[in-house]
Amino acid sequence: MAEDGTTDIFVIGGGINGCGIARDAAGRGLSVRLAEMGDLASATSSASTKLFHGGLRYLEYFEFRLVREALIEREVLLRMMPHIAWPMRFVLPYHRDMRFDASAPASRLLAAVMPWMKGRRPDWLIRLGLLMYDTLGGRKILPPTRVLDLTDSPEGAPLKPEFRKAFEYSDCWVEDSRLVVLNARDAAARGAQILTRTKVLEAAPEGRLWRIETENVETGERRIHHARLLVNAGGPWVGDVLRHRVRLNAASGVRLVRGSHIVTRRLFDHDKCYFLQGSDGRIIFAIPYETDFTLIGTTDVEHDDPDTPPVCTPEEQRYLLDFANQYLADPISEADIVWTYSGVRPLYDDGASSATAATRDYTLTLENAGSAPVLNVFGGKITTYRRLAESALEKIGAHFPAMSGPWTANGVLPGGDFPVDGVSAMVGSLRAEYPFLTPFWARRLVRAYGTDARRVLGRATAEEDLGPGFGATLTGAEVAWLMENEYARTADDVIWRRGKLGLRLSDGEVARLEAWMAERRAALTAAAE
Ligand SMILES: Cc1cc2nc3c(=O)[nH]c(=O)nc-3n(C[C@H](O)[C@H](O)[C@H](O)COP(=O)(O)OP(=O)(O)OC[C@H]3O[C@@H](n4cnc5c(N)ncnc54)[C@H](O)[C@@H]3O)c2cc1C
Repeated sequence: MAEDGTTDIFVIGGGINGCGIARDAAGRGLSVRLAEMGDLASATSSASTKLFHGGLRYLEYFEFRLVREALIEREVLLRMMPHIAWPMRFVLPYHRDMRFDASAPASRLLAAVMPWMKGRRPDWLIRLGLLMYDTLGGRKILPPTRVLDLTDSPEGAPLKPEFRKAFEYSDCWVEDSRLVVLNARDAAARGAQILTRTKVLEAAPEGRLWRIETENVETGERRIHHARLLVNAGGPWVGDVLRHRVRLNAASGVRLVRGSHIVTRRLFDHDKCYFLQGSDGRIIFAIPYETDFTLIGTTDVEHDDPDTPPVCTPEEQRYLLDFANQYLADPISEADIVWTYSGVRPLYDDGASSATAATRDYTLTLENAGSAPVLNVFGGKITTYRRLAESALEKIGAHFPAMSGPWTANGVLPGGDFPVDGVSAMVGSLRAEYPFLTPFWARRLVRAYGTDARRVLGRATAEEDLGPGFGATLTGAEVAWLMENEYARTADDVIWRRGKLGLRLSDGEVARLEAWMAERRAALTAAAE
């Protein structure tokens, strides 16, 4: 079997945590190889609600460390990636029957000191939570909380008239799957080797090293790699990797909790997001999405097996519709749903009674199989991926004494080298340079690629210079760029993970794209041989 050289670190998993750790480690001078069995972000990291947020609801679970770390992190992340992340205002409509999740510690405390509240979430407590949310994280870029009169405002227009008052606060949006691919690209630019469609079959200690066997899932080719340290960032498969690939009996466990979203046609005419509280103590978001759509989610359902692909069941769809309809003046139904997606949260098993209550914080464990160390990643959020990577590198520091220190807080991601409020100016200058771009097209390219948009467009002076058009402004030049620079292999990679043009393309257009990519893949393989 073919053998590849020895690296310092071998990372299993090309989700946000694997790619974040690979990038951080490569930037500190370590040699890194990463294997992802599918496409980058093909599991949980493309199925999130896509918020860089402190997690307002976690305050009710007294998760102050997690909330504070995430709040501080929001602004660090905005500066690193002003193209794929941006501030968003959240509108929290208030009415007096809102209730806590009964298992939340704040609920139990309130029940003890104010039993007459009968589980209701009082107005003053929400204000207190928002005051903490505003101040815990040392906010500089994001505007503060305010009270909104819904009786005469665009934010009140789509809601039932009984909602007369709301609180408005700040969090941020992030394009989750693009975040993953930009981390992978930056890791590669710093020397890491990123292997997609490569499954780790087995990893076993061999003296002081790990011997790792992988299989290319497209060609069936098997290879052997050696590494000084193994990182298990398998997300929902973190337990499978431990038990079946590494064969370690670890004490820590993972709890799989499915979360689903529905996407509808656009339901309101402003760019703010709704934070909706349900009578069951849960919350969901309704978020302006991809200009013409609204994203609604999420659910919390136990999920038994990582190999069972998560889908948004008819029951979950009904739950989300009913939840949103408690608020919307014009109710929505199954007929309004244009797309659904679902992902599995790999939560650290802290023994919580309900899926909603299980901690969203992360835990890193370092174990030794003989003298070969393995670092396991449990839980975590997109928002804390950079801090998680820093903690991971700190934890393994003793194994690499020559490694340099933390650097990612000021390390801009590819295409993000422009000011936080610079998107509109860049859209304007891109249209001046490439006058054939429509406003939608130019904005889409800037939001996806930032300052790299010019590299995608090259010397084109007219649309025809960009190769075949696949619909919705997707061209051959862009797809070729994604295949050569961003590890895209299939139409799904392009239309669902490098962007969201899947919402706009017809089946015929997708089939044409798939056929064009198959030809190009064959040509690239032939050229490499
Ligand atoms: C519904 C939902 C909503 C969420 N919303 C938010 C949010 O708004 N904000 C936020 O901050 N966080 C959110 N999260 C949490 C966040 O999405 C996850 O914590 C994060 O994506 C987990 O990343 P990961 O890299 O650990 O896992 P994954 O993204 O699942 O990556 C693990 C990867 O490992 C690969 N793998 C596994 N086994 C092997 C093997 N043997 N060989 C090779 N590869 C392997 C898998 O293919 C997979 O791609 C949400 C999660 C869900 C489910």
